[in-house]
Amino acid sequence: MSRLFIALLSLAIFISCSEPRKPHALSSFEYPTKVDTNDHEITLQEKRVFEITQDKVKVDNLFDGARMNGISYLGKNRYEVVINPENAPINPSPWYAFRIYAEDSRTIDIELEYGKARHRYWPKISKDGKSWTRLDSANVEILNGGTRARVQLDISTDTTWLSGQEIINSTDITTWAKQFTSVDNTSFKAIGKSKLGRDLIHLDIHNGDTDGKEVVAVVSRQHPPEVTGNMAMIAFIEEILNDSELSKQFRQQYRVLVYPMLNPDGVDLGHWRHNAGGIDLNRDWAYYNQPEIRQICEHIISETNSSESEVILGLDFHSTFSDVYYTIADSIETVMPTFANDWIGQIEEHLEGFNARVSPSGITSPVSKNWFYNEFNAVGIVYEIGDTTPRDIIKKKGEISAREMMKILLARK
Ligand SMILES: [Zn+2]
Repeated sequence: MSRLFIALLSLAIFISCSEPRKPHALSSFEYPTKVDTNDHEITLQEKRVFEITQDKVKVDNLFDGARMNGISYLGKNRYEVVINPENAPINPSPWYAFRIYAEDSRTIDIELEYGKARHRYWPKISKDGKSWTRLDSANVEILNGGTRARVQLDISTDTTWLSGQEIINSTDITTWAKQFTSVDNTSFKAIGKSKLGRDLIHLDIHNGDTDGKEVVAVVSRQHPPEVTGNMAMIAFIEEILNDSELSKQFRQQYRVLVYPMLNPDGVDLGHWRHNAGGIDLNRDWAYYNQPEIRQICEHIISETNSSESEVILGLDFHSTFSDVYYTIADSIETVMPTFANDWIGQIEEHLEGFNARVSPSGITSPVSKNWFYNEFNAVGIVYEIGDTTPRDIIKKKGEISAREMMKILLARK
């Protein structure tokens, strides 16, 4: 054989082994039950100051994240506040948040009326909208089989905030995300606009070149009241961005695409569940009818196409009644078949007293975790935090989760 022939043969073998990566494109996916994610009408709450003239007490919903549909006088220092959802049918998770002030100090009773929905969020109070205290159980009474809650409050000329959870609105998350642009090549930008024109913000975390760097995608706040999931995401991302050797090494080897506020309209409008299109965004990851989901999916695809890389892990942070991981069933082969169990096992080992609840399922619904699998063969995991999980545990768990993920992913290299 001539040298030229051997050279050509080895070139041919080399080319056939390193087949160019097939670019991804936005694909629609079929699921057993099709969900209609075309726009459904929503009702906006009237934003204003409401006054109880008999007692000279004022209440307002004039801030982003507020929800209060009306107030009426029940008797001296007793008021009913109506809390309505943005539309129906809807997952019954009544979100409320408003401010109260009076001409003098007094103790009042507020009865939160949810219609048919049951009370979910334990009341928190604040003087500044930033630091919050859980109301004592002596001051809260659940009535009417859960569709009404009575809250006793001391109010004064100072503003008292009353809310179902701490307020983290789109401005708060934007301010948070912007502070990290000094870490390596981390960048912050808006990748598009929500239905009502709010920024869809994004953090791109990595060090050095993005070419070929495998991607971890992180999303949160599809569902507006799910603040505890957002808190876990914050702790998780901050751990990846700190200056430990582990985090530095990780940012060298991997890229993290973060979409920390997927539903800024719903969050700022104080929605119970949906976006401004009246849709549960976590049912649109196959149809892309809603601008938030369409643009985020397009962005993930275009970033991985231009860097010739793949998403290997997609994490979606939510809140529910208790901490749980929704994973993809073991029988479904992903790009990292043992990751979910290894990772959750390590979190359990490092977080004292923590017994993880894991709920595996097939690929049967148009939710984010299934999109990561269908589009990239990636591991998709929904990271759910309980509504009442202590805030220090949420933070600790978020940090441990990030460290253990980074260790496992670095060990692959
Ligand atoms: Zn959720």
